[in-house]
Amino acid sequence: MSFKSDIEIAREAQKQPIQEIGAKLGIPSEHLLPYGHDKAKVGQDFINSLSDRPDGKLILVTAINPTPAGEGKTTTTVGLGDGLNRIGKKAAICIREASLGPCFGMKGGAAGGGYAQVVPMEEMNLHFTGDFHAITSAHNLLSAMIDNHIYWGNELAIDERRVTWRRVVDMNDRALRDIVTSLGGVSNGFPRQTGFDITVASEVMACLCLSRNLQDLQKRLGDIIVAYRRDKTPIYARDLKADGAMTVLLKDAMQPNLVQTLENNPAFVHGGPFANIAHGCNSVIATTTALKLADYVVTEAGFGADLGAEKFMDIKCRKAGLAPDCVVLVATVRAMKMNGGVAKADLAAEDVAAVQRGCANLGQHIANVKSFGVPVVVAINHFHGDTEAEIAAVQAYVAQQGSEAILCKHWAEGSAGTEALARRVAEIADSGAAQFAPLYPDEMPLFDKVERIAKSIYRADEVLADKKIRDQLREWEDQGYGNLPICMAKTQYSFSSDPNLRGAPKGHSLPIREVRLSAGAGFVVVICGEIMTMPGLPRVPSAEAIYLNDLGYIEGLF
Ligand code: ADP
Ligand code: MG
Repeated sequence: MSFKSDIEIAREAQKQPIQEIGAKLGIPSEHLLPYGHDKAKVGQDFINSLSDRPDGKLILVTAINPTPAGEGKTTTTVGLGDGLNRIGKKAAICIREASLGPCFGMKGGAAGGGYAQVVPMEEMNLHFTGDFHAITSAHNLLSAMIDNHIYWGNELAIDERRVTWRRVVDMNDRALRDIVTSLGGVSNGFPRQTGFDITVASEVMACLCLSRNLQDLQKRLGDIIVAYRRDKTPIYARDLKADGAMTVLLKDAMQPNLVQTLENNPAFVHGGPFANIAHGCNSVIATTTALKLADYVVTEAGFGADLGAEKFMDIKCRKAGLAPDCVVLVATVRAMKMNGGVAKADLAAEDVAAVQRGCANLGQHIANVKSFGVPVVVAINHFHGDTEAEIAAVQAYVAQQGSEAILCKHWAEGSAGTEALARRVAEIADSGAAQFAPLYPDEMPLFDKVERIAKSIYRADEVLADKKIRDQLREWEDQGYGNLPICMAKTQYSFSSDPNLRGAPKGHSLPIREVRLSAGAGFVVVICGEIMTMPGLPRVPSAEAIYLNDLGYIEGLF
């Protein structure tokens, strides 16, 4: 059987002018700042005027641990938003913007797929409204000001060996990971070793995504630690007087972007922090704005629920004062099979026993989400070729866990495929059953917070950390950073730190390799295993297949 590609479907979209989409949410057209005909930013003044309105219901879409078989979180987020609108609810979607790195690297867009997509998908996956360029510029302005400060006499006594602030570019470019700057003589400054990260890994991105408004943004930018002195005292972006100009560069990027789904329902696409060294959710300002304008807001978090949902709850919701009303856990029959030991090449053959074995992974995520006090419903994202017996096996397992799994066909059918899910989600959200509480209190010591996550979410027996790491965490507590939440950076493929341990491993240890303080964003990053902040391109990058056809349409973009 052959299917239309995502871009072919997106091209056929019957888009409405963005003013009409805004009108569905009651946004007057003078408060929409159009970028072309089908994208607009929502004006800051309008956002400020909404503060007294009640909030709608918040629904998080998350997933089992990803497998190469694909899960479809974004696709399901879009499908559920359309489904809620289909049953007559006023619903909006909140998802992340795309990075150019993965776009030209590995196949896979950020706008959903099939008949559950956000459009214009080409632009969303490319320059969009320029937010990532603004973030790149703000980040690199700070980088330039650091080297400039050192050049003109280094009044702040920056230890050139302890500059932690690097540079960023929105591209997968391994050649820039480790570089030496300021070569070429006296007039070019003092050579030092540094490097580039990808823009989505920038702390400026995390700051923008967690800020409630521009004042909050400027404060966070000022709080960023860029370097240390010889006595190891920190130097902040504020000390370099960079926070004002950085905020100016980010003024427009801070306003959420409004686009539409294939079914002309409103979608906010804003921000895109890494899901490992950052929290992996769209911006707080987009989510809080959507909650003021819609009765139901469907949003997603990156990676599996062990990372994505945990950070959504413990970082984003905690900081923004949000409380989810329902969680949708996306699972696929194929991923259950892979978790049950089937190789990707053998996924086509029916294997109910493997599905049943693999469900252990799903079961642990269900229990984890419930431990936050939020009701959970499983969405089985239907793939062509899933058999009835396999689907029934997932549903029977989930029922045993005291939840329910609903079959969804949004990828093939759009909102008609998520009607049942939408009805159930609306019912749960309206019931007020959720009693959200984060996993740990602010006051808990940093190491204990890590232990709490490792033991209750990952089901590890212990956290391994040498004295240096424990001392560092204690030092940050002494400096007043003890109340920050933890941002775990671990493999997305397993509950453990070993990507090959699928299913629901027990009795493992979680080794901490490194800890980093993101004082501006406001979390402590705990790195377990190899984490890449500047990805490389694969042997055959997607870029090789992307081109403009004779009609001027983009081809090859998924
Ligand atoms: P995630 O958000 O979990 O990374 P996406 O929703 O972006 O995943 O989906 C990844 C890819 O998988 C997309 O290209 C999408 O078209 C495809 N996909 C998602 N669901 C299905 C499905 N039910 N059948 C076939 N392909 C799908
Ligand atoms: Mg996604």
